[in-house]
Formats: sequence, C-alpha cells, structure tokens
Amino acid sequence: MKVGVLALQGAFAAHVATFASLGIAAFEVRSAEQLAEADRLVIPGGESTTMSLMLQRSELVGPLREYLDAGHPVFGTCAGAILLASRIEGGRPDQIGFPMLDMTVRRNDYGRQRESFETDLAVTGLQGGDFHAVFIRAPRITQWGGSVEVLATIDGSPALVRCGAIMCSTFHPELAGDPRLHEMFVSIPAGTGDERS
Ligand code: GLN
Repeated sequence: MKVGVLALQGAFAAHVATFASLGIAAFEVRSAEQLAEADRLVIPGGESTTMSLMLQRSELVGPLREYLDAGHPVFGTCAGAILLASRIEGGRPDQIGFPMLDMTVRRNDYGRQRESFETDLAVTGLQGGDFHAVFIRAPRITQWGGSVEVLATIDGSPALVRCGAIMCSTFHPELAGDPRLHEMFVSIPAGTGDERS
C-alpha cells in the first residue's frame, strides 16, 4: 500500500508518523509525480485558503481533481475536509474546492473561546472505546446529504463522515496518539470511490 500525505502546508508530519506507528511508510506529496505514486491520500489540517493557493502554485489542482475522480481513497482532516466539501461557508471567494462530499462546512464555527478543544467521541464501528478528538479552529458540518454516512458527532454536528472512499473529520486525528482512524482509512478497499449521487 502506498499512502501519500499532501505536504504543501499544515499538519502533514504527524500523519506520516501515525502511519509509521502502524508499520506503513507513508510519503509526503508535493508534486503531481508524487501524487501519481500514491494509491490513497491524506489531505491534512492547516489553512484551507493557504492550501488552496499552494495547490494552484504547485500545479496540483488538475491532478488532484483527476485523482479524486478516479475514486482513490482520500482522508481529509479539518482543512482537508473543507477542501472536499461541496459547499464552503466563510471561505474566500478565490478558494479552490474539490466537491466530493455532499455537505456544507462553515469555517471556524466553534467560537472564539473554543478555538481549540479536545473531547472524546464515540465512533461508529471503532473497537476499543471512544476516540480522543482534537479540534483546532474547526469547521462545522452544517448540512449533509443522504450519501454522507455520519460516524461521529460533536454538539449534534457530524465530526467524522464517510462517503464511498472519502473519509473526512473536522478534528485532527493525527494528534491523538491513537492510530485507529488511520487504520480505518487504510482498510477502505481501493476502488470503492465515486459513489456520489
Ligand atoms: N480554520 C482552518 C481553515 O479554515 C482549518 C483549521 C484546521 O485545519 N485545523 O482552513
């Protein structure tokens, strides 16, 4: 299995380390050539506006769209989830999106006092108890379609979702010291993508 982690900006290093703890040698992706080497991809947290700009500068917008259309498994975390949402509230007008999941995300929606917070989430299908979730300037999923399976919620809003081969979390699973969601991601069979309705 060849797991790539988009490494243009943001929290990519901790994702690579989490895969390493599972014995999986994930590699950093900064170019179309590297993307072509990956059979699945993580789009990490960071700043979705900056990442969108960096994707344009690196000439990765077209290759990433093709990669997503080919149905490869992709895990978008926090800013990564924003990039994969079909509707973004509070985004910049020039922000690039890769609308793979029928959902609306509202950026930075957990309030000033709650810029960063941690909580334990019950995750559907996850063995071994709750998952310790770290939220950092997190987006809230405010609306979602029937094709989106909700695996965990926070304050009544989805925090972990899946649609076909795409998984998205509004929190940072790579900061938990717990590789179970990365394990869940690598267990998505290749070729289960493109179930969008
Ligand atoms: N607030 C960031 C954004 O809008 C996301 C924060 C994160 O990824 N931790 O892109």
